[in-house]
Amino acid sequence: MHMAAAPTQRKPTFFWQGLLILLPVLVLAVVGLISLRQDERSAEADAHTRAAENLQSLAIAMRDSVDGELQRFLTLQNVWMIGLRLASQPSVSGEFPDVKLKADIEKWERDYPKYKFTDLAVPNAEILTNGEAIDPPDFPAAPTPPKWFLEFSSLQKNSWENLRAAKTQKEIESRRQIFLDGKPSGEAQQAAFNLFRPPEEMAGHSNFQFTESGITFEEIACYQLLSATNAQLTTDLLQSIWWRVIDQPSFLSPKLLQLAQTLTNRAGANLRQKFFWTQQFWNRQSQVREWIAPLRKISDSTNHWNLASSFSRWAGDSSNAPLAFFEPTTFVNMSNNSNGNPFEGKGYAIKFVPREVVETIFEKALSENKFLIPKFAGAIVFAEGKPLCRTDKANLSPESFQLKTSPPIASILPQTKTGVNFGITFYLVSREQMLASEHRRAKLFGVLILGSALSALIGFVAAWRAFRRQQQLGELKSNFVSSVSHELRAPIASVRLMAENLEHGKISGTQKQNEYFRFIVQECRRLSSLIENVLDFSRIEQDRKQYEFEPTDVIALMQTTAKLMEPYAAEKGVHLKCELPVPVQNQILELNLDGRAIQQALVNLIDNAIKHSPKDETVTMGIEIKNAKLKIKNDDSANTAASLNSQLSTLNLFVSDHGPGIPRAEHGKIFERFYRLGSELRRETQGVGIGLSVVKHIVDAHGGKILVQSEIGQGSRFTIELPGKN
Ligand code: ADP
Repeated sequence: MHMAAAPTQRKPTFFWQGLLILLPVLVLAVVGLISLRQDERSAEADAHTRAAENLQSLAIAMRDSVDGELQRFLTLQNVWMIGLRLASQPSVSGEFPDVKLKADIEKWERDYPKYKFTDLAVPNAEILTNGEAIDPPDFPAAPTPPKWFLEFSSLQKNSWENLRAAKTQKEIESRRQIFLDGKPSGEAQQAAFNLFRPPEEMAGHSNFQFTESGITFEEIACYQLLSATNAQLTTDLLQSIWWRVIDQPSFLSPKLLQLAQTLTNRAGANLRQKFFWTQQFWNRQSQVREWIAPLRKISDSTNHWNLASSFSRWAGDSSNAPLAFFEPTTFVNMSNNSNGNPFEGKGYAIKFVPREVVETIFEKALSENKFLIPKFAGAIVFAEGKPLCRTDKANLSPESFQLKTSPPIASILPQTKTGVNFGITFYLVSREQMLASEHRRAKLFGVLILGSALSALIGFVAAWRAFRRQQQLGELKSNFVSSVSHELRAPIASVRLMAENLEHGKISGTQKQNEYFRFIVQECRRLSSLIENVLDFSRIEQDRKQYEFEPTDVIALMQTTAKLMEPYAAEKGVHLKCELPVPVQNQILELNLDGRAIQQALVNLIDNAIKHSPKDETVTMGIEIKNAKLKIKNDDSANTAASLNSQLSTLNLFVSDHGPGIPRAEHGKIFERFYRLGSELRRETQGVGIGLSVVKHIVDAHGGKILVQSEIGQGSRFTIELPGKN
């Protein structure tokens, strides 16, 4: 059997408790703050994903809207242009535009109030993949002699020159016969007849025949008729002009129109209208001629020809170039080119939509679906590689399409059914707005996290201080116990020794015996005073201390206390002086207080003073009356006491000594329980460290104040301030 070793008592520490309080909160706070940061990143990613989804929907919605509107414009343009081409011919009668077309145009113009439809519409164009233009017809800048002329043999050429030089009808007929006998081509034969027909006869019958110079006979006839002195615009003449200008234009066409224009004033309303339309159609055709010039050179129009796929291109790089829609077509035996060969083979029908109309159509489609654009983003729309519109039009300029400062969020490149490749890009306008709700949340949680971390920290500090105080108190208490036992041991031992000596008759002589008895009584008094203090202290600690207030004569109280302490002072070789106000000596200075308690307080103060005083020094106790009014006004000694009692404001009881004094820093602490100056080992004076704390409690209970005035080497003065009656 062996004995278990007694567990070594370890000094309690606060480490684990503190760790358990702080660590979880700190870990939570750090993790919380990190996750808030990550939340921001994922909120950003979420916003981008949502934007991309919206962009998808926007692309679909815009594509449908754009397709519909482009188709609408193209159809209306086609109907209008076919109608205009027909109606502009003088030989064709009928209403133009008809009621339906008129209504359709009006409706379109209501939807696009910025534009006048008839100013925008242009005819379709037709080209072959090799770039040859079918419609509007191409014509050389300068005329070249026709094939029939170039094919002449020298003989034929001679007879043709002869024929042309003929003057009389007879000459004409004989020379023409000679020419025909030379077996020229059919066209040359026709030319031989046309050469001498009067212009009036030529007008009004479409005639494609070229003269030897490469100009048509009909054109020459028109020119002659228009520039005659009494020229007049007739239906036949205007019809001829129409054919020459619209069907088979040449470098002369503008001149013919210009001459005809001067005659319109004298023509009838119908002819005027017809001329106006012809002119309009010619102008539109000229416009298209200009537009297709760059398109005819597009190399991929030859490479990618595919009947099933239409496509679109900007007609040129200028900012107002229209959008051209290419529809692959196979042309079969169309009209002839300027060399007289028919157009045949693969090609395209090309339709145009003016740039501004395309812009408006896309803008409309964008603003109709604006709700799909996230609040924090802007949108830019491109078509066939050119920026068309953006949401914040306020700062719309060619440069502002460059996304220099605002990074793109999402982009998409859909294609319309009409074959327009367009693109939409969302770009970031306000990152703040994108993360607004996330930021609100983060702020809230951040405040919560920091708040709880802070409160945990405060709790930790408070707990640590309480722990420290408790620890110090524990130390003080154990010191207290040893001090009390120490304080008790010496007097009890000496009392026992003296009592034993008396008992055994070892002390002879009554005077000596009396001295012994006095000593014993005095020691017992001191003991009971000490025990009284300890008991009082424990009552105070347990909140059981009760005070009995009754009118008490303070002067008498001071005097008895002085008497009580005198023997002790004498024993220590210290003088005890009691200073009481002179005139009051025979008067009663009454206050409502617990006399026993105040006396105990005084005893404690005097006891300390004597204890700390060197031999032969004086301890002074006394009363001070604080009442300025009284002192100035009423100096009559006899009345002072009476007035005192009724006008008293404060009454100070003081005890002062010439001891070592108390350092200023310790002034507050000496009233704490168990507190004693210096270390436990180096202390010379007796005491247990509760005297002043009992004093403080008593004075507090009386509604008074305990004050200390002391410097090192200057002695100490303790003052009990008691409130007077008012
Ligand atoms: P104690 O039983 O130690 O006297 P007290 O509470 O009465 O306990 O006093 C607390 C401390 O204050 C003392 O230990 C002493 O150091 C200091 N003290 C009290 N009175 C005086 C005085 N008159 N002169 C110098 N020091 C004093």
